[in-house]
Amino acid sequence: MSNQGEGPAIGIDLGTTYSCVAVWQHERVEIIVNDQGNRTTPSYVAFTPMERLVGDAAKNQVARNPTNSVFDVKRLIGRRFSDPLVQEDIKLWPFNVICGIDDKPMIVVNYKGEEKHFSAEEISSVVLRMMRETAEAYLGTTVKNAVVTVPAYFNNSQRKATKDAGGIAGLNVLRIINEPTAVAIAYGLDKIADNIGKSNVLIFDLGGGTADVSLLTIEKGVFEVKAVAGDTHLGGEDFDNRMVEHFVEIFKRLHKVDISGNSRALRRLRTACEKAKRILSSAIDTTIEVHSLYNGIDFFSTITRAKFAELNMDLFRKCIAIVDKCLTDANMDKSCVHVVVLSGGSSRIPKVLQLLQDFFDGKELCKSINPDEAVAYGAAVQAAILSGMRNDKLQNIVLLDVTPLSLGIKANRTEMSIVIPRNTATPTEKERLYTTAADNQTSLLFSVYEGERARACDNNLLGKFRLSDIPPAPRGVARIKVCFNIDTNGILNVSAKEITTGVMKNITITNDESRLPTEEIDRMVQDAETYKAEDDEHRKKVKAKDALENYTYNMRNTLNDEKISAKLSRKGKKKIKDAIQQVIEWLDGLQLVDSEEYADKLETLESICNPIIERIYR
Ligand code: ADP
Ligand code: MG
Repeated sequence: MSNQGEGPAIGIDLGTTYSCVAVWQHERVEIIVNDQGNRTTPSYVAFTPMERLVGDAAKNQVARNPTNSVFDVKRLIGRRFSDPLVQEDIKLWPFNVICGIDDKPMIVVNYKGEEKHFSAEEISSVVLRMMRETAEAYLGTTVKNAVVTVPAYFNNSQRKATKDAGGIAGLNVLRIINEPTAVAIAYGLDKIADNIGKSNVLIFDLGGGTADVSLLTIEKGVFEVKAVAGDTHLGGEDFDNRMVEHFVEIFKRLHKVDISGNSRALRRLRTACEKAKRILSSAIDTTIEVHSLYNGIDFFSTITRAKFAELNMDLFRKCIAIVDKCLTDANMDKSCVHVVVLSGGSSRIPKVLQLLQDFFDGKELCKSINPDEAVAYGAAVQAAILSGMRNDKLQNIVLLDVTPLSLGIKANRTEMSIVIPRNTATPTEKERLYTTAADNQTSLLFSVYEGERARACDNNLLGKFRLSDIPPAPRGVARIKVCFNIDTNGILNVSAKEITTGVMKNITITNDESRLPTEEIDRMVQDAETYKAEDDEHRKKVKAKDALENYTYNMRNTLNDEKISAKLSRKGKKKIKDAIQQVIEWLDGLQLVDSEEYADKLETLESICNPIIERIYR
């Protein structure tokens, strides 16, 4: 699968709270900064009466627009609305999520005065598109191909939905890879395996909203996820909250007011706290300053690294307990771990590092790569390999992933019949034969499941399909060959053929509720294009309005400048003043109009003012 000649392929870490994009260039990985100069971009999309915002711009306006600012969609993607985890999250979010067709969660926002419904794939695609455009701006060329990462525990439908999001963003997703695998690649850990045969690598990923610990074994280029443990609600945002609670108390003590019911004040305080938290990873104390936090009161305070650690100690310990659980699940003693690698922005916190190192009896932790960039780094390496880039450093990485869960079907009976056992290296294809359970049975319903439970219904249902037109025969005569195929993205296709009579029937799952049909993706791609066009149009208008305002107010300042004003005739002054006044009034009462209208007004105003002003310089 070489994609040489199609431009560079990028690696994207599509995170719950922050995303990151990287590319292999000049013999190394480069992390690409966004338009704000930041190396990671908030996974936020916001809708306003005027426009759609992404990344930093979206996150910065959350306090003003909470119900139309969407974040955390990675918690929704590829899940059903009725999923208990989804129900829990919905309770916490300020934006609205409703049940769409086939139990699909749909995000409801007000955009340009209209109610709009978006799937998680669509929202994620907006973030992915932003990452793509960030890369395009940096590289000065179009980018089509990407490797996108997902958590190791993502099931088939979450992976497929993530791939669909890439499709909607106009990306050709070369492969979906596991985040811990990407981190292991980033550190070149496949090389370690060369020296010691099989190596055990523990990836500690503490991000913004989740804590994920994975134990990988690496042997001859095969990355096998042995165990994963985690907490889906433990991360940087919880640490921010603890600091916010602390300062709410301080504010109460200082000013005798409780601001805990004021969401705007809390939001602004939280932003300041996140900043302070980051600083405390390198400095031992810092200040918090929020102007006019509440009722015009400016807030000013300080916090030390030690105090921050104390506020979060129980949460930090919880992170270490997850490491312990992961090792227990994998049935491995901590002394057997060869390498401990850090990932996720919150793993920069010194106290967390210390606790982790203590847990591993003082073992050195791998931290030569920025932890919040390691996933994108590994994805970029993988993207380079897949796009056929040839390089000494890239040559030896083969990279095979494994299925995290067993895949099988329920046919006739209630138990799960496993076709592909868990931990099978992918891509792979496996077949099994099935038959009818009754005389003259002409159709057979296959339900495809993933999971480790014996009873199929206890596992996760991926989809169903019916093979009909089986020639009537006594039970057990028909021979039906079922084929499971997992492609390089870990995405599954299932087909069934009736072979006894030579009549071949072939069926592939297409109607899995949790996946999007192609037409649906096509429609979303189109929508995304439309929104992009609208966004561009909006930016054009704002720019034109800005130019007109700039000129108008400059001219007013010029008029107010005594030295210049003294040189103008009374008649000239009045002419300019009236013209400016008219434009200001026009601008004040106006919704955004076409850019041409602003340009026209500007031209008229210039034609009045410029000749008068120029006269004084003659
Ligand atoms: P995600 O969980 O979306 O994958 P990241 O791995 O980028 O995101 O982690 C984001 C979290 O890391 C945020 O909560 C952010 O505040 C935190 N973070 C980033 N840099 C630092 C730092 N220097 N010190 C402490 N926390 C940090
Ligand atoms: Mg992450």
